[in-house]
Amino acid sequence: MTYDQNNIFAKILRDEIPCAKVFENDHVLAFNDIAEKAPVHVLIIPKGAYVSFADFSQNASEDEIVALNRAIGEIARDKGIVETGYRVISNHGINARQEVPHYHVHLLGGNDLGGCFN
Ligand code: AMP
Repeated sequence: MTYDQNNIFAKILRDEIPCAKVFENDHVLAFNDIAEKAPVHVLIIPKGAYVSFADFSQNASEDEIVALNRAIGEIARDKGIVETGYRVISNHGINARQEVPHYHVHLLGGNDLGGCFN
């Protein structure tokens, strides 16, 4: 998997374009999705250069994997959506219609998300 250094999330990580940041630590950045599909729609990304879940799950360090997953849970708590429920989604590749080739997790919540993944 070849990582494209010019993808939009790489530019956000380099501060070349802005984002609405909601969380940051040594390994993780999270920001609001620009085209939110729910009242809470946060994208959680590793700071390392990973194309997708397939790349991240195989090649990231255990520290990076733990940090990303802990961040998802922390942001959900901060957003107050644990009681009411939320959805965690990551798209990998063509069949999932992944648009941005930097691994990211969608955290969605704040209302009834329906019974499908769209
Ligand atoms: P995916 O289809 O899983 O690759 O989703 C990519 C997501 O990135 C979409 O939900 C877009 O709305 C979102 N997105 C694209 N550009 C930006 C941006 N500059 N800031 C925040 N979200 C973005």
